[in-house]
Amino acid sequence: MKIPFLDLKEINSKYESQLIEAASDVIHSGWYIGGNYLAKFEAEFAQYCGVKYCVGVANGLDALVLTLRAWKELGRLSDGDEVLVPANTYIASILAITENNLKPVLVEPSEKTFNISSENLEKYVTPRTKAILPVHLYGRLVEMSSILEFAKKHRLLVLEDSAQAHGAKLNNQKAGSWGDASGFSFYPGKNLGALGDAGAITTNDPELFKVLKALRNYGSLEKYKNIIQGVNSRLDEIQAAMLSVKLKYLDEEIKRRQEIAKAYLKGIKNELILLPDTPLEGQHVWHLFVVRTQYRDRLQQFLTDMGIETLIHYPIPPHKQDAYKSYSDLNLPFTESLHSEVLSLPIGPTMTDEQVLEVIGACNAFKA
Ligand SMILES: *Cc1c(COP(=O)(O)O)cnc(C)c1O
Repeated sequence: MKIPFLDLKEINSKYESQLIEAASDVIHSGWYIGGNYLAKFEAEFAQYCGVKYCVGVANGLDALVLTLRAWKELGRLSDGDEVLVPANTYIASILAITENNLKPVLVEPSEKTFNISSENLEKYVTPRTKAILPVHLYGRLVEMSSILEFAKKHRLLVLEDSAQAHGAKLNNQKAGSWGDASGFSFYPGKNLGALGDAGAITTNDPELFKVLKALRNYGSLEKYKNIIQGVNSRLDEIQAAMLSVKLKYLDEEIKRRQEIAKAYLKGIKNELILLPDTPLEGQHVWHLFVVRTQYRDRLQQFLTDMGIETLIHYPIPPHKQDAYKSYSDLNLPFTESLHSEVLSLPIGPTMTDEQVLEVIGACNAFKA
């Protein structure tokens, strides 16, 4: 492919000497789990998000799973409680709910933003509704102030899924600092990516923080003393060190993504291709630039023939997956139409202006 969807090798090569130096420091430290590099990254990331606490875990799914689990340990949730979640999310958001014996209530997203929105939530609420899991899908921050109002009215816990939205902000308040807690993924392809699996939870709640720290480490805060039944979900020293290096460049990389998105929004003019809604300044960190078209498969083939790699996020909605057969009869027409019409164009911090123009030109040349 002339223009890859996301060039991870090029992204990480830019920082290669610093990454090697950081890895080498960890190797020479002789301490590989639960040491200074983890503590350092947790402090840096908490500060970056504007919260008091950050707990590193093994991956983004665990960040969500363990937060809901911690709320159960704290008696704030119990088996069978309902959690509102957008129907068009990545399956991890739903898995975190069902894994905890909670019930996902799949909500149709806003047709404008593809995100969950307080406008149509009221009809999904029952006496068992106890939490809401807004997903900042594609990197666009959900309109959180109205979600928080809604949550307050119905006494719901709020868990943000910020896996795609590191650094997205509204009124200078970042993803990960709005809800009662937030889950992040540092999967290599995310906007802040490790060189392997990693994740984290951010929160201002000291009780939740304490339970999470125990849960990720066999339920133990003190060696060989287990206060709860925990799991092994730790963010290791090498990945923490890689993340500290890359966090320094996150804002720069977001800026580049925003420039590219701006160029796409301005340059792509083809009535067959629906562009994403223009966000407020800073609200969108453009993890993905997702267009919609009735001719999705043909547009993808057309771009492939021109050497432009695209992906589909996501081809099958969670309720139509074999894993969730019992949900397959739900009536979610907008979600289903999205999954057959969306296409993600290449976007990444190392894309050149020439490549961006080439993608724009190709989109504009597409005919039905
Ligand atoms: C990537 C992702 C996750 C899961 O993260 P992993 O680190 O892969 O476990 C959860 N939610 C969303 C929206 C994601 O994009």
